[in-house]
Amino acid sequence: FFISVEGSDGSGKSTQIKKIDAYLKSKSQEVLLTREPGGTVISEKIRELLLDPSHKEMKAKTEMLLYAAARAQHLEEFILPNLQEGKHVLTDRFTDSSIAYQGFGRGLGEIVAEVNRIATGGISPDITFFLEVSPETGISRKKSEENHEMDRLEQEKQEFHHRVYNGYKTLSNLEGQRICPIDASEGIEAVFSQIKVELDKLFGF
Ligand code: C5P
Repeated sequence: FFISVEGSDGSGKSTQIKKIDAYLKSKSQEVLLTREPGGTVISEKIRELLLDPSHKEMKAKTEMLLYAAARAQHLEEFILPNLQEGKHVLTDRFTDSSIAYQGFGRGLGEIVAEVNRIATGGISPDITFFLEVSPETGISRKKSEENHEMDRLEQEKQEFHHRVYNGYKTLSNLEGQRICPIDASEGIEAVFSQIKVELDKLFGF
């Protein structure tokens, strides 16, 4: 299966994705954990460029196209070949992030979906876990992380994070078949137990 995990900053995405990975491995599944932007040498280089806090001059369209470029490479070089070999691929973010951040957050709208179609050829995950926390909770969780350095995007204003959140909500209403909303405001184990129910269904454990 092709599985993605989505959510706003501070939604606990990286903690949960590690738990998903460990759980599937404990069930003897061959699963590869990857992330966006990133997952290949070229895509990780694009990630560095995107997240560099000194690039304040970066335009919204440039950002959108760089995310899409990183994704095109990630998909062709890593995701598809592994899926074809029968492995499961678990990715930290995929196209929904672009719709939420660049489409809703940056206000680029529909063109983001169009660019994503070009980047992915319409391929989408079998299931997407959307870790849902209010933007306020997300931001305060991020700030309380020890030695946490704010990257370019985390410095964005509150309204931006609200738009991103609304973007995810809109998407999860539109694509209810694929996107599985998870209440991520609770503790780590409580959040994971919701995800586990869905994994057990999908894998037939
Ligand atoms: O998932 P992670 O927290 O590593 O993402 C890195 C940063 O990139 C985050 O601050 C996130 O908000 C941002 N991002 C973005 N647009 C995307 C994907 C991620 O602004 N399409």
